[in-house]
Amino acid sequence: MFEMVIGLEVHIQLNTKTKIFCSCPTSFGDAPNTNVCPVCLALPGALPVLNEEAVRKAISFGHAINATVHKKSIFNRKNYFYPDLPKGYQISQFEIPIVENGELYIDFEDGKSKRIGITRAHLEEDAGKNLHHGEVSHVDLNRAGTPLLEIVSEPDIRSAEEAVLYLKKLHAIVRYLDISDANMQEGSFRCDVNISIRPKGDEKFYTRVEIKNMNSFRFIQRAIEYEFERQCDAWEDGVYDEEVVQETRLFNTQTGETRSMRGKEDSAEYRYFPDPDLLPVILTDEMIEEGKKIPELPDEKKERLIREYGIKPYDAVIITSSVEMAHYFEKMIEEGASAKNAVTWLTVELQGRLKGGVTIAESPVDAVTLATIVKRIEEGTISGKAAKEVLDHLMEHPGKEVDAVIDELGLKQVSDEGALSAMIDEILTQNADKVEEYQNGKEKLFGFFVGQVMKASKGTANPGVVNKLLKEKLSAS
Ligand code: ADP
Ligand code: MG
Ligand code: ZN
Repeated sequence: MFEMVIGLEVHIQLNTKTKIFCSCPTSFGDAPNTNVCPVCLALPGALPVLNEEAVRKAISFGHAINATVHKKSIFNRKNYFYPDLPKGYQISQFEIPIVENGELYIDFEDGKSKRIGITRAHLEEDAGKNLHHGEVSHVDLNRAGTPLLEIVSEPDIRSAEEAVLYLKKLHAIVRYLDISDANMQEGSFRCDVNISIRPKGDEKFYTRVEIKNMNSFRFIQRAIEYEFERQCDAWEDGVYDEEVVQETRLFNTQTGETRSMRGKEDSAEYRYFPDPDLLPVILTDEMIEEGKKIPELPDEKKERLIREYGIKPYDAVIITSSVEMAHYFEKMIEEGASAKNAVTWLTVELQGRLKGGVTIAESPVDAVTLATIVKRIEEGTISGKAAKEVLDHLMEHPGKEVDAVIDELGLKQVSDEGALSAMIDEILTQNADKVEEYQNGKEKLFGFFVGQVMKASKGTANPGVVNKLLKEKLSAS
């Protein structure tokens, strides 16, 4: 039996206004080669100047993962040739990264957590993009020089599930900190998966392959599963040494297979050396202190929600799993919804109605509106069933007032004892035979009477009041 050993390298694009070593904008989707200047085009004699915002964002990240933030770090040149890398090297950090020795915790459904070590996080610049059109290739250098933070995990991950939980947690942290859009489709959060296998119980690490540039949780999961099988098969067939070599592989989303792209370079092959154009980065005390001012992160928020509102631990994990969801929930509470109902209406009712990749942030029904629906249930204005109709209607007609929709659909619950009393009397009179049976001991008929009242009121009768009145009348008559 084998186990997998996985270490992840994640590149996040920092959401600074300008590039890391020049003042070109970092905006996405502009016409090719419009956001460029002598520095990011690598024209001779142009000199890089470090973007302070990128450094500040890296510092916050370091604090968020409980890491060492080095007061002094170094920029190196990582030499390689690519058409979209006009300098012939990438400016990155090698011997001393800005952030080292951090951690994050992943949460399982059964309530357990696991620590995953983060080896380092370093600043670097992105390359441009090669665009291939049939026989012709184009190079767009708009992205060249975009600030990246590369976050390297320890090989602590043991399954595809853990890998995805790690990535989701990291994604959440980055979004809570607001240091990156972390938009996976646009490539501002992308991942290289390093994976090897070993016989269970074995302490040593075997040869890893690297699967490059994955940007979907589902594909990452499938790539890991495929690659694990491939390596296990090779071992069992006695061809492990030939088939599993240190290399870079690509995942084919059509076939679900990984295939070899190139042999994996050793760091020595990059001929790293300190960039003579850039001084060592020395952080001031002010920068380090400012970097500590980070918002409440998922783990702390989770603990607080459990403590303050008594919500279930796994519900708290779900609520805090994205900053949008957490803020939505907190807004509902602020508007006066109870925590218990806020959890259900957000995670079950609203999420169940968001289809086709629509996120909480894009929900047609905002937190104030959903909180109003919940409050109308809690006040007894509408039943839970009616509330679902109101929500359905608002999903189709965003922007309408909750109370107007309740009126329009005639869903207001009748709690007035006088009105209900008359209705109940009529039903009891019409069903005198059943009343007699009930009074002779056939108690399960109670549900029948409730059903009749609900039917007569078209579902608007307040069930609590109906129950109470029925009990009184049936025992009295
Ligand atoms: P490189 O830049 O050469 O890819 P890094 O040190 O940046 O090297 O990243 C190596 C990644 O591979 C880390 O995430 C590390 O945890 C992981 N890793 C190292 N050895 C193994 C192994 N035997 N099996 C799986 N992952 C590994
Ligand atoms: Mg790598
Ligand atoms: Zn530029």
